[in-house]
Amino acid sequence: MKIAVIGTGYVGLVTGTCLAEVGMEVTCIDIDQRKIDNLKLGILPIYEPGLEEMVVRNTSKNRLYFSTDLAESIKGADVAFIAVGTPPDGDGSADLKHVIAVARAIGRSMNNYMVIVTKSTVPVGTARKVRAAIEEELQIREMPFDFDVASNPEFLKEGAAIDDFLKPDRIVVGIESERAEEIMQRVYKPFLLNGHPIIFMDIPSAEMTKYAANSMLATKISFMNDIANLCEIMGADVNMVRKGIGSDARIGNKFIYPGIGYGGSCFPKDVKALIKTACDNGYEMKILKSVEAVNENQKNVLFNKVYKHFQGDIAGKTFALWGLSFKPKTDDMREAPSLTIIDRLLEAGCHVKAYDPVAMKEAHHILGDKITYANDQYDALIDADALLIVTEWPEFRSPNFNVLSKLMKDRIIFDGRNIYDIKQMQEAGFTYYGIGVKPQY
Ligand code: NAD
Repeated sequence: MKIAVIGTGYVGLVTGTCLAEVGMEVTCIDIDQRKIDNLKLGILPIYEPGLEEMVVRNTSKNRLYFSTDLAESIKGADVAFIAVGTPPDGDGSADLKHVIAVARAIGRSMNNYMVIVTKSTVPVGTARKVRAAIEEELQIREMPFDFDVASNPEFLKEGAAIDDFLKPDRIVVGIESERAEEIMQRVYKPFLLNGHPIIFMDIPSAEMTKYAANSMLATKISFMNDIANLCEIMGADVNMVRKGIGSDARIGNKFIYPGIGYGGSCFPKDVKALIKTACDNGYEMKILKSVEAVNENQKNVLFNKVYKHFQGDIAGKTFALWGLSFKPKTDDMREAPSLTIIDRLLEAGCHVKAYDPVAMKEAHHILGDKITYANDQYDALIDADALLIVTEWPEFRSPNFNVLSKLMKDRIIFDGRNIYDIKQMQEAGFTYYGIGVKPQY
């Protein structure tokens, strides 16, 4: 099959590369010339475990191509995936300008039947707009090509994107013709061999499924954060409560870890967009509004603990931060809780010395010289008044606490991800604060 993927970011690059991996001929297209030039040299714009080798392998086997020329690249394609960004507009709704621009560009240059599939996260009704934009362009050209639109939301997780794409829990495809269904079945057949289901449905339901999934996950996070905050007040331990409720099969033990709030490029914007869609259509998403409010508050919880511990006397103090990305195994810092924490610390006159295994370059790009960048996790601790755990990278889980004790000015840890055990930390002589666990001071 011949595939065009338009938009070569996290989603487009992973999609294109994985489709090439199973033997399809794929061209990944982007308007960013530098990104495409680098990709041709095997230099990736993002960090994603395993992706670089896969890109290089498929490029060398002449199955994966990169281009800025959309018109040339979609010639003869069976399927064109739209995987461009849909950032939040000023009012919270998803900005569709890139999606519609791509639809128009396809309409201006397509010369055969193809299925145009929206992979970007887009509100219900977008496929209709994509169809209208393409039809308008075809009318101008007086070229009445037949085509189908489809919706195929992406559920990959940054940090585990390749596995998620190759071995998906499910593939959701919204279609409106048997022809499109048959083609999409062919595209995804190689990924279904181990029993992973493909769920065909109408297009509005597929578009809604993505928002419902992300909103449900964000809800789980905010719910547990709310419970954690109450545990602290009441003297309960949220780690125990989590185990207690997670063993109920109806609740399940996944995604119920408290922390310092969700971030990233998806949950915050998708929750906002769904609230806005509902509002525009005369409905109020009361639960999601609270999910957002709890999350905003939670991003401040670690700073508040620091402030309280030092009784407000923090100006001039140095804080070591372990972790900057919004979650482990990615360099993505979009809406990361680390940014809120750093802002609050800097505003209060503190020095921040940070280390992240892969997000240092990205952090430098965003924060410039506002903070100090450590060479490694231990370097960050030298003369620090306290350590803040911000992202739960595996390498932070079992550090040498004797070295920590020696390097730090004071043995204080604010653990925003509950990666350490409060009793062990107290026995090792650390003053320890977790999330939803009451310190015995
Ligand atoms: P991204 O910002 O990493 O990449 C988008 C790419 O599209 C950029 O490289 C940009 O240059 C390119 N682009 C913009 N306009 C273009 C145009 N007219 N022609 C060609 N290329 C163009 O975005 P992303 O994180 O890959 O997300 C893409 C979509 O997928 C979003 O709707 C997002 O919500 C959704 N999504 C993202 C994830 C994730 O984990 N990142 C997961 C699932 C779904």
